[in-house]
Amino acid sequence: MKVLVINCGSSSLKYQLIDSETESVLAKGLCERIGIDGVLTHSPAGKDKVVFNDPLPNHTVAVSNVLKQLTDSENGVIADLSEIGAVGHRVVHGGEKFASSTVITDEVIAEIDKCSDLAPLHNPANIIGINACKELMPGVPMVAVFDTAFHQTMPEEAYLYALPYEYYEKYAVRRYGFHGTSHSYVSKHAAEVLGKNIEDMKIIVCHLGNGASISAVQNGKCVETSMGLTPLEGLVMGTRCGDIDPAILEFIANKEGLNVKELLTVCNKKSGVQGISGVSSDFRDLHAAAAEGNKRARAALDVFCHRVVKYVGAYAAVMNGVDLICFTAGCGENDIDVRAQIMGSLSYLGCKLDPEKNNVRGKDAVITTADSTVTAMVIPTNEELAIARETVALV
Ligand code: ADP
Repeated sequence: MKVLVINCGSSSLKYQLIDSETESVLAKGLCERIGIDGVLTHSPAGKDKVVFNDPLPNHTVAVSNVLKQLTDSENGVIADLSEIGAVGHRVVHGGEKFASSTVITDEVIAEIDKCSDLAPLHNPANIIGINACKELMPGVPMVAVFDTAFHQTMPEEAYLYALPYEYYEKYAVRRYGFHGTSHSYVSKHAAEVLGKNIEDMKIIVCHLGNGASISAVQNGKCVETSMGLTPLEGLVMGTRCGDIDPAILEFIANKEGLNVKELLTVCNKKSGVQGISGVSSDFRDLHAAAAEGNKRARAALDVFCHRVVKYVGAYAAVMNGVDLICFTAGCGENDIDVRAQIMGSLSYLGCKLDPEKNNVRGKDAVITTADSTVTAMVIPTNEELAIARETVALV
């Protein structure tokens, strides 16, 4: 079956058409600046990418143009839309309602809308994408795959915040966690690569991208994760601060005359390694600056690695041990130095880096020595493939 995977943001839409039998990507692309002007970049497999600047006034037009390109005589990869057997949608927040992927019905759309309160930037955009596909591909089954679902197995002691309990009861304020599709895919795939049964394993997945999160996966189930009610909590990220003392907000509000919304913009967009370094949110730029003696870039890298080390220790404690540590996403898959720096602080666990094996980018690889009692691996994430698999399984 051919599955169209859609990841819809407020002004963007990423897509991949995946052949579920071969698990190959037939075409992928990105619509940007939807509602502003419009850029569609379409990459059919084996051909050059093409860029279109036709106006994209809304998501329905964006989806319509994507479908036109998929079936285009020159840039297309299918003869007819009827070849698309199902659509898989990434949905950011499933609240407590969705602990797994689900076939999309009108009731499901209404439930996703109820979760918009928890993800006001993301869920409404996801619903717009769902409705656009519904309009243009009536009758084609669609599946919602939630970023939060994999983490719904966390026990109460991991997801409850020590705030007045009525905030949980009244407003569902709790830890949800994000990047769930990635944490699930990477932990399963790593166990498969090692030829081990995930049911017998304690795995820590470090998803280190522009957004970064870490999870503890015990016997195949998530028992802890670092992102919280929103993706702001936990690790230091490209531009997000991760864990801070919440009292800092009032302190800075008074000093700088900022309101809550402005402060959260600072925490989400002007903090993290970007905020510390003043150089960039991109780790490649940070390494280059640090190599030239930029102390703040060095500090940003050190703070980032230190936070990961702290969480790995915490999650090994939560699971009373760890067998496998996985590095994934842009930085986790590609940043040899960051992995080496983090691993340098994990020898107490019996986790010993093999520097030669660590000299790897973007492919499945064990990076620890043969006598290391805890294995560490690089596992490239593939959220689109995971969404396509879930979609096929449900339809
Ligand atoms: P997201 O999906 O959250 O936008 P990605 O997982 O694509 O992020 O990660 C993007 C980040 O990965 C970049 O901002 C950069 O910091 C990092 N990255 C990508 N390639 C490399 C590389 N070769 N070396 C170090 N860091 C890299």
